[in-house]
Amino acid sequence: MSTPILIDSLSFARDRQSRSGRIALAKLARVVEELAATDGELVWSLQGDIDTLSRPFLRLQIQTVLTLRCQRCLETMPFSLDVDSRITLFTSEARLESACEMDESLDAIVATEELNIEALIEDEVLLALPIAPRHENCGNAALERSRAERPNPFAVLASLKRQPE
Ligand SMILES: [Zn+2]
Repeated sequence: MSTPILIDSLSFARDRQSRSGRIALAKLARVVEELAATDGELVWSLQGDIDTLSRPFLRLQIQTVLTLRCQRCLETMPFSLDVDSRITLFTSEARLESACEMDESLDAIVATEELNIEALIEDEVLLALPIAPRHENCGNAALERSRAERPNPFAVLASLKRQPE
């Protein structure tokens, strides 16, 4: 286990700090359960800021391509994930609840001095996943796979070049 990345969420937002990084998908245990393949990584960036209502918030952007399993044909399918969320910080559960009652689309958390960025990223990825992933056209998936399995002539050439002379 690597050490978690912890931030003081309120000062991060108020000081308009920013941070970014990459995480191997295999490290996100709750996301892995939803994936058909766990290779690859995601890139993320987090920026703190204050909104027009003077509320501190975190803007979290995540990009990756996940391999999901189609619920209809059970073949794998690529899924481009592009998250851009604004997570508003509240200093108490009561304030958070009343704000969410007024604005149902609000994405909010209670501010903490030790916010685990990886856990936050994992939550946002899970929220962005389709409930029942399906190909638009399942028949094409098997076709695409057989195409992908055929050796690429350029890859063959490259491997020949790499051999010692
Ligand atoms: Zn399918």
